[in-house]
Amino acid sequence: MDIQAILEEIHGEVSPCLKMGRVASYIPELANVPAERFGMAVRTVDGASYAIGDAEERFSIQSISKLFTLIMAVQLAGDALWKRVGREPSGNPFNSLVQLEYENGKPRNPFINAGALVVTDVILSYLDEATQTVRDIVAALCGKADIEFDLAVARSEQLTGHRNKAMAHFIKSFGNLDNDPDRVLEAYFHHCSLAMSCHELCEASLFLANNGIAPMSGDIIMTPSQVKYVNSLLLTCGTYDAVGDFAYRVGLPSKSGVGGGIVAVMPKRFSLCVWSPGLDDSGNSLAGTRALELFTTKTGISIF
Ligand code: GLN
Repeated sequence: MDIQAILEEIHGEVSPCLKMGRVASYIPELANVPAERFGMAVRTVDGASYAIGDAEERFSIQSISKLFTLIMAVQLAGDALWKRVGREPSGNPFNSLVQLEYENGKPRNPFINAGALVVTDVILSYLDEATQTVRDIVAALCGKADIEFDLAVARSEQLTGHRNKAMAHFIKSFGNLDNDPDRVLEAYFHHCSLAMSCHELCEASLFLANNGIAPMSGDIIMTPSQVKYVNSLLLTCGTYDAVGDFAYRVGLPSKSGVGGGIVAVMPKRFSLCVWSPGLDDSGNSLAGTRALELFTTKTGISIF
């Protein structure tokens, strides 16, 4: 199959949708990114890579960081994590507070903001330099030492992230944060501000397609059963309250972010990342979702 030709076809077909989405502006710094950017990269477990468009350009990974922090929390805390975070789709927007009240401060899953705040709290309790360690681990996974936080984006969210601040203090009121909420928020905003390209995100998530082994280094990141758990959570919770429709259209475990990136995993075969900053109403990249749907349709490859 000519994957490169398929990416080129997809690039052409999504062009009309590039201006249809809305770039996230609730974090003011993200609003500066032009909506018509588009990149896509594929990396197979046996070493092939394919790319199109702006696949080498770094963007704000935002909620895609929730994937990496979850992996760290699973490594550090094991199953104890699940006493504090659930594993069900929320059916609500990623930044909603409503369920937290009647579910006693236990977030539905690790891929909504509330869940990621608890995951961040867990990491902070285990590691002295937790935020730097998150950066180091992501940098090692993609083999690029110069992966960095975008401090302007982190500061922008620190100044305007009142909903996340309310959420962290609310969770603390239920006793489900061990650390100071402001410390948890600062770490969380930094994780979200990591800047990476489609290519780098493919590399960093490839172990999820490779039984938990990072293909470049040979390092064992997770056991095969932990990989099964994480990929299942991605499929059921990784794309906010649009997760059912997304799974129907794309058919791959995926994680999106409001920077417009989406990472997808085809177990045993490849990882895939698409970036287009214009978002749909749920906060998923509009053209990115379409591109992934076209990819699995044209190649006939999905987990189903
Ligand atoms: N930093 C963003 C927020 O907390 C991340 C959300 C996202 O990418 N869905 O609102």
